[in-house]
Amino acid sequence: MSEIRGADDPTTQREELNPAQQAVLDELGAKAGDRPEFDEDLRPHLRAALETAIEPHLDALPPNEDVYLSKHRLGQVHGCEAKYLAEEAEDFEWRVPIARGSVVHKAVELAVHWRRDFEPPSLVDEALARLEAEDRGLGYWLQGVSEAERAELRSLAVDSFTKFVECWPRLQPAWRPVTESRLRAELCDGRVILDGKVDLSLGTARGLQAGKVIVDFKTGTSLPLHREDLRFYALIDALRIGVPPRMLASYYLDRAHFVPEAVTIETLRTTIARVADGVGRLVELRHGGRTPNRIPGPPCRWCPAYDDCDVGQAHRAEFDDD
Ligand code: SF4
Repeated sequence: MSEIRGADDPTTQREELNPAQQAVLDELGAKAGDRPEFDEDLRPHLRAALETAIEPHLDALPPNEDVYLSKHRLGQVHGCEAKYLAEEAEDFEWRVPIARGSVVHKAVELAVHWRRDFEPPSLVDEALARLEAEDRGLGYWLQGVSEAERAELRSLAVDSFTKFVECWPRLQPAWRPVTESRLRAELCDGRVILDGKVDLSLGTARGLQAGKVIVDFKTGTSLPLHREDLRFYALIDALRIGVPPRMLASYYLDRAHFVPEAVTIETLRTTIARVADGVGRLVELRHGGRTPNRIPGPPCRWCPAYDDCDVGQAHRAEFDDD
């Protein structure tokens, strides 16, 4: 297995690193003792525990329906359920803030394999051109987007990607960097699907010894939900290969701030309970006649149910300034 090497490794000292890049490298580097070993039967145990916890919730699910869970949907259903239902009723539309993530991830992917030095705007332009050429959602949207939206998207993407280049050491091919890696697990005879797309993964397991690091890049404020998102990925990856990632990390580009978490059996157990509870809520909301709860907070500002929601309006009247 290729290792993510520490600062004392000669291969990492060819590049002059600024303090932010050095901090990332220090976080990523692992000694042998930092790589826990997991039991060889972890994979079937996790699957059995998850299916046992989920199955009672599937009684109310019609036989021709399945439950699809992404980190986004799982987070929604553990928040304000009325907001979740209102958002589900809306058609998905690409918008500049959503498209920014895809463009930046594409630029990171190109940067990993780019053989020459580059300027961030040129790789963002290359990423935009490649995404626009694709025959699918984002490609179609880019083909018809206005010049102003495209300019705004480019500006935001250049900002985020430049911060990435400033704050991260150049990713070495030996670290096995993979961007936008899709993870999927099917449970309960395919009736429940767990689906994820990892911003960046580095390293891999060696036998039963964990070695992979999963990173989500963020702009803006850190939220407890970000940690839950990563734990969801760790569970899917453990279901896939039988060894969970060694480390999960949210990286906040605006602050150049790395928030790591080691993965333990307890992390996986907690996540199994959260996933099973999420499946239960989804099935009850769709088919069990559950009255959705209303949890007011900052998301009321962009909630599609806001105009008809007394709870959200009262909350904003009390706590929000403009
Ligand atoms: S406005 Fe707030 S409380 Fe009301 S549904 Fe939306 S998020 Fe929930």
